[in-house]
Amino acid sequence: MRILVTGGAGFLGSHLCERLLGEGHEVICLDNFHTGRKVNVAHLMSNPRFEVMRHDVIDPFKVEVDQIYNLACPASPVHYQHNAIKTIKTNVMGAINCLGLAKRVGARIFQASTSEVYGDPDVHPQPESYRGNVNPIGIRACYDEGKRCAETLFFDYHRSNGVDIRVVRIFNTYGPRMLADDGRVVSNFVVQALRGEDITVYGDGTQTRSFCYVDDLIEGFVRLMNKEGITGPVNIGNPGEFTMIELAEKVLAQVGGSSKLVFKPLPQDDPLQRQPDISLAKSELGWEPKVDLDQGLERTIAYFRGQLGVG
Ligand code: NAD
Ligand code: UDP
Repeated sequence: MRILVTGGAGFLGSHLCERLLGEGHEVICLDNFHTGRKVNVAHLMSNPRFEVMRHDVIDPFKVEVDQIYNLACPASPVHYQHNAIKTIKTNVMGAINCLGLAKRVGARIFQASTSEVYGDPDVHPQPESYRGNVNPIGIRACYDEGKRCAETLFFDYHRSNGVDIRVVRIFNTYGPRMLADDGRVVSNFVVQALRGEDITVYGDGTQTRSFCYVDDLIEGFVRLMNKEGITGPVNIGNPGEFTMIELAEKVLAQVGGSSKLVFKPLPQDDPLQRQPDISLAKSELGWEPKVDLDQGLERTIAYFRGQLGVG
């Protein structure tokens, strides 16, 4: 198949391109290099089945493809809040452009949605049926509401135009090729520990997240995309739930060194807890995560050691 991956030069996109090429597909990576990097896909460039297009999903584009994975959008709160209006445009206009293309060429299309559609959840863990608790005017809304609107567009194109859709709700995912200055918690803690700097815990560090290793996530993506008779949304994430203090302790236990925890203000609207209910992924896709947090951190720390050139 010929497959388009928008946001293909980012953290998740680059792993997805690699996986799809490994399965023998032709892959077109479309990216505006906002938070993505050429170096993430540099090792794929010699493959004759791989192509990179510098383009912004806000502007329409035409390619003949069989499948589309729409991942274009900065994922770190620091990056998506930097230019909030651009983030909404990327989510909404990007979805419209991708869906219009899917409709025209008859491609199956996959949306990278997010656990952020649940906002600061008052149902725990979160099943797909939970409708969420999002502040529509807060600083996270450009992302949360942008992703919610994209989901709406996917289901309206499906109902009105018969577009063949798959929607995944991704819970916090980490691994090699996150940016060192990404601002997300796993990369921040690992990079700080490796540099011997203080570990910045926001709030009192009792808020929780559930961290999925990137290889597990990509396996879930491919299973959902290629499953017949399902639209989603399907939660993909690792149900192992940790406080930010527990995460910091795990990172320090592996890295060693003299870093101390320092407490910084909790950002506005920061969700207190988050854990996926993955019953649907288990029953419909036969999927569950295989890599636990200690194993995943080991691989991620090894990657950042190489990136930072620390021993
Ligand atoms: P990332 O920031 O590493 O990658 C996003 C990619 O999209 C980058 O390559 C960036 O340059 C590109 N991009 C951004 N705006 C664009 C635009 N207007 N036009 C073209 N390209 C654009 O983030 P990631 O972690 O790889 O996330 C990928 C997708 O998965 C995003 O849609 C994100 O919302 C979603 N997601 C990720 C997580 C996670 O934990 N990693 C969780 C939930 C959802
Ligand atoms: N966080 C933290 N220190 C950091 C970066 C983030 O304590 O240096 C916290 C943040 O406040 C949030 C959690 O870690 O409670 C996860 O943050 P991240 O930005 O990785 O993801 P999201 O909030 O989007 O789930």
